[in-house]
Amino acid sequence: MRLIRSLDEVRRFSHQVRGQGRSLGLVPTMGALHEGHLSLVRKARNECVSVVVSIFVNPTQFGPREDLSRYPRNLERDLGLLTPFKIDAVFAPDAGAMYLSGFDTFVDPGAVAQPLEGALRPGHFRGVATVVLKLLNLVQPSVAYFGQKDFQQAMVIRRLIEDFNLDVRLALCPIVREPDGLAMSSRNAYLSAEERVAALALFRALQRADAAFCRAETRTEAMVDEMKSVIASEPSLRLDYAVVSEAQTLAPPAVVTAGAVALIAARVGSTRLLDNLIMAPQGTNDEDRLRLALPARNSKLETRNSEAGS
Ligand code: AMP
Repeated sequence: MRLIRSLDEVRRFSHQVRGQGRSLGLVPTMGALHEGHLSLVRKARNECVSVVVSIFVNPTQFGPREDLSRYPRNLERDLGLLTPFKIDAVFAPDAGAMYLSGFDTFVDPGAVAQPLEGALRPGHFRGVATVVLKLLNLVQPSVAYFGQKDFQQAMVIRRLIEDFNLDVRLALCPIVREPDGLAMSSRNAYLSAEERVAALALFRALQRADAAFCRAETRTEAMVDEMKSVIASEPSLRLDYAVVSEAQTLAPPAVVTAGAVALIAARVGSTRLLDNLIMAPQGTNDEDRLRLALPARNSKLETRNSEAGS
């Protein structure tokens, strides 16, 4: 496994791989890796001949009052976690190399980036879309792996790929959870023991919405009320939003049908937590829920395990 720091070197590496006709998977991360990230790496490893994991805490997606400076960074530990996967390279550029002085061009994502995280974190998706486009241009992967955990981010990237005619397939992977249901996140490291208990209410709220859907509830407001009542039972949680949205646009659906997504964000102490769940008939597994939300037909989006790089 090579550690690549320079932009020129990752370009040369990519040329070499693609020149040999090998499929190349890219897993973009901000490091502080956990089992959620590793599920993406595993899927990339299974589907692609060559795999690059990028580790880059992207300054342009953090607001001025956000946690850029305290975001957990531990490259040595991350490299240790990646070693068993026998990936080809870790690309870990410096912020100064990614954003040379004078850098002044950004991607401006449209409607799907406006509500929810976009409304609460102005400029966030502009930074995300910009760095993802830069990474895709540098690494030129055949497949890029993202997590359902950041559902709105995945929809922004889906539009970016389609709208800019990028020659890459987007692969989405289900949310990996702790045994008690908490969605894994690098930011969970900030939580105290009490905050971590309170954080469990996010998944409980999503499960309540799903249970309502399984009882044939189709009214958005009724499902949102259910979610809000669960969050209200944890006084230390401050709800940012609880919604049920149409998956690809994140617009509110007239009636909730299978494949709609319940999304929730709340703060506990100084930590923001995100989670989501795709509504589906009882017993539907996570991969099938993703397929309900984002049918692969007519799209570069692919959620099923398949041969890559063709
Ligand atoms: P981050 O390092 O937070 O930028 O995340 C890198 C990628 O890992 C993103 O595509 C995330 O959606 C994904 N990811 C983060 N947490 C999880 C999780 N618990 N399960 C699955 N994917 C995740």
